[in-house]
Amino acid sequence: HLDRVLGKHPPSASVVKLPMPPVLRGARKHDVTICGAGFAGSVLARQFAEVSGKRVLLADKRPHVAGNAFDCLDGAGVLIHRYGPHIFHTNSDDVFAWLSRFTEWRPYEHRVLARVGDKSVPMPINRTTLNALYGLDMRSEAEAEAFLARQAQPVTNIRTSRDVVINAVGTELYETFFQGYTRKQWGLDPSQLDKSVTARVPTRTNTDDRYFTDKHQAMPREGYTRMFERILDHPGIELALGTDFHDLEAADKGRLVVYTGPIDAYFGHRFGTLPYRSLQFRHETLDRPQFQPVGVVNYPAEDVPYTRITEYKHLTGQSHAKTSISYEYPSAEGDPYYPIPRPENQALFRRYDALAAAEPGVVFAGRLGSYRYYNMDQVVGQALAIHRRLTARQPAADAM
Ligand code: FAD
Repeated sequence: HLDRVLGKHPPSASVVKLPMPPVLRGARKHDVTICGAGFAGSVLARQFAEVSGKRVLLADKRPHVAGNAFDCLDGAGVLIHRYGPHIFHTNSDDVFAWLSRFTEWRPYEHRVLARVGDKSVPMPINRTTLNALYGLDMRSEAEAEAFLARQAQPVTNIRTSRDVVINAVGTELYETFFQGYTRKQWGLDPSQLDKSVTARVPTRTNTDDRYFTDKHQAMPREGYTRMFERILDHPGIELALGTDFHDLEAADKGRLVVYTGPIDAYFGHRFGTLPYRSLQFRHETLDRPQFQPVGVVNYPAEDVPYTRITEYKHLTGQSHAKTSISYEYPSAEGDPYYPIPRPENQALFRRYDALAAAEPGVVFAGRLGSYRYYNMDQVVGQALAIHRRLTARQPAADAM
């Protein structure tokens, strides 16, 4: 179990007595060193400090906690998400309960519209979307199902993102909602992308216009950053912000390292760089209370350079005379955001993963450590599971 991985703390008296060379001072100070103060690193920091009584050093190269979920007040005092809109949703009671120790929640069901010509229609596609686009008056699920069945063009061997959509809703709806949006988002045609990308987006025959249908849908009442500050407020956790993990002294590394940065960077990109898609954000504050009717409006047309506009006040519930919005421009350059789901990238990841499995005393976690698009709740669930695995007693070994 954990003490076997990390060793017992030396009694503090012996630390005082032993004259230690400076290089060993760090190693004596921290049991666990964590790279990255996003959900993965912060949940693990709290678990190691609170549940296992370990001393944790948590380093992030950014000057703030919360990773990509970071939010802050902009110049006008409007709460914005610096790295794009983060909407919390989960079906896991455990994950929701764990986070609820550190925040109160504001119920929020996310709604998205897509701008098509001069119309704004619900996204994911539902019966309202179909009625608005085709000038229909379908009143039942059966009618909408029959309509979609007439549009669909069955694909026998579904491999790509294009196949998934054409098979479900046909070419016209594919071109209207998916082709341009996907090309902008990924810099690739849907026919070049794994089916998993569009398989995540449902098509509905009812009029449910919520983006998510999870059991728990809510936003941290005082924002994500405040929630992270509470998660990390524990005497066993030392924070080193603005600190690159790779610049830490060997002595700062505890016996266990948790690495939530990009897995290829840990190994010096020795097999080549794992491709990521990035985003550039244009944040604006407008001198009016509201800009658009819902939190996010998508722009699927290829001739519009951005993919979507977010208006944060819908997400946060903040009252303010002004409003702040962000335009998202997908790009090849910038922070690593989305692992690009293509078979050759998975093959490259597997080579790094094999190195990771053989790296003693290091656990890889989170979205970048796993080279996988995970939602926030999945990352929290993964972090809790990693801690459980490392701290579980192994009856067979104990009996020996
Ligand atoms: P991150 O939050 O990326 O944290 C990793 C941290 O490691 C970063 O802070 C980084 O600075 C640090 N780091 C990396 N390398 C080093 C190094 N060498 N030294 C020190 N520090 C380092 N999920 C949802 O559930 N709902 C949403 O609505 C949603 N929207 C999203 C929108 C966008 C635009 C993006 C990109 C993601 C979205 N996600 C959403 C996913 C969500 O961001 C992730 O699930 C979550 O942030 C993953 O947490 P993490 O700790 O794995 O990674």
